[in-house]
Amino acid sequence: MGKKYICLDIGGTKVLGAVFDEKNSIVYKVKKKTRAEKGLEQIEEKIIKVVDELIGESGMDRSELAAIGAGAPGVINSDSGEIIYAPNLPWRNYNIRNAIETRFKVPFYIGNDANVGVLGEWKYGAGIDRKNIVGLFVGTGVGGGLILDGKLFTGSKHAAAELGHMVLNTEGPYCNCGQRGCLEAYAGKIGISREIKTQIERGRKTALKELMGDDINLLKSKALKKAIEEKDDLAIEVLDRAVYYLAAGAGSLINVFNPDMVILGGGVVEAMGDYIMPSFKKHIKRFAMPDILTGTELVKSALGDDAIVYGALAMITNKSGE
Ligand SMILES: [Zn+2]
Repeated sequence: MGKKYICLDIGGTKVLGAVFDEKNSIVYKVKKKTRAEKGLEQIEEKIIKVVDELIGESGMDRSELAAIGAGAPGVINSDSGEIIYAPNLPWRNYNIRNAIETRFKVPFYIGNDANVGVLGEWKYGAGIDRKNIVGLFVGTGVGGGLILDGKLFTGSKHAAAELGHMVLNTEGPYCNCGQRGCLEAYAGKIGISREIKTQIERGRKTALKELMGDDINLLKSKALKKAIEEKDDLAIEVLDRAVYYLAAGAGSLINVFNPDMVILGGGVVEAMGDYIMPSFKKHIKRFAMPDILTGTELVKSALGDDAIVYGALAMITNKSGE
């Protein structure tokens, strides 16, 4: 018997939950679809279901549960536990902490998923003992997190490090945030898919047409990976283009923050890191000042899909002073 922690990665399409023991090891894990379109109550129910299942199936005793932590997309006040705004979830000014603490009677901590992800990498993954870290997570969009002077930087209103919404081109393609030419509009899956679609419409021949099927508006990383392995010209070109913009964004961030390390993570990097990292390291020389770039470690996430649940664990252990 010992203390156990439940950590959640709440996304627009799925909830990933993990039970950690006192040695910070994952002892049980579960993944469930969110179905965000079905509304607030359905998501809350799903989260409760995942926690119940983690308690029930992991073999832990209910009395062992010491705290619950979570990362979720959007602007989140980690002090109050309020989700101020979440773009892909039906939450606005919603105090999720009250709901979870009332139900499970243990402390609940929550933060922005990309911020929590970089916290996880800093405490348990690729960035241990570094003082300044820039984290970029490439999935449907591009999430960001900053460790500055040995602290997670969240800004004045809990909304800092929206690194995916740095404008790289004021006349560029529209982004989900309403701006034009954001890093996310080029390097996120939505941006990559748009480029593939445009090129197919221009008449380019590509294996992606068949691999993507009806899902042409939102690329699956697996399909792109397969096309790249088959040496499909267009697949190689669109990924390199996305990485080029990622390097432009990261290069500017290196010039601004002079970090010890840049960590790339998220589903796209998880699936295609072997292609992305060499291309990223090549392109970034064009954007980061050579003297600042020298000595900056450029690495792939060490925790992969578990970065956010590890970050949630870091929030729990930070706040409970352990
Ligand atoms: Zn944007």
